[in-house]
Amino acid sequence: MNNMPLILLIEDDKAIVNFMNTVLCANQYRVLQARTGREAIALISSHCPDAILLDLGLPDMDGVEVIRTVRQWTQVPILVVSARSREQEKVDALDAGADDYVTKPFGTAELLARIRTALRHGAQESGREPLGGKLQNGGLAIDFESRQVTVDGKDVHLTHIEYKIVTLIARHLGKVLTYDYIIRNVWGSRPTVDNQILRVNMANIRRKIEKNPAEPQYIITETGVGYRMVDNAGETPE
Ligand code: CA
Repeated sequence: MNNMPLILLIEDDKAIVNFMNTVLCANQYRVLQARTGREAIALISSHCPDAILLDLGLPDMDGVEVIRTVRQWTQVPILVVSARSREQEKVDALDAGADDYVTKPFGTAELLARIRTALRHGAQESGREPLGGKLQNGGLAIDFESRQVTVDGKDVHLTHIEYKIVTLIARHLGKVLTYDYIIRNVWGSRPTVDNQILRVNMANIRRKIEKNPAEPQYIITETGVGYRMVDNAGETPE
């Protein structure tokens, strides 16, 4: 069982550690545990886990500090598991380099799904898959070379900015991108661009790619934080 994914659980609450440890072991993950940020950083550099589950409120340092430190040398997927529901804290964690977050209390199925997504993308990242080529995500297809976007086989005509937004989010499939991150990467860091312009563009994108723009199936809003492209990899193509 030694090639099963190794998950580092960084958490100081014993009850949560026990619960998550049980869930992870039952699902064939190997689990390493750290109770403090310092211990976590040492374990990450010595054991190179495949994914990290990180509580933000640690006894010795803020979890965001752990993310910043670890990101200096590794792109290992980091999934923040936090009781904090304040949006700014999620934004800070994502901007520091976290891949995703789950807010406590969470369901086991949701947690496991997020871990699978994180592991899949971590493996892709380390495999250095070229970003050219195509993405097929449910009915949505993007050809990065011909810059063609189709939904259920029909051409979608996006403006230059809309295309940049969709492909940026698509290249980070399954991951939440903050408003600031998207604005910096699409427009550059021009201070004249604010979230409102992004929202207007997103409304237009959704009218073009979603069956029902009020209930998007491809790009969903993480309220107060940003956008995420849903990974429909588990779905069978029509
Ligand atoms: Ca804690």
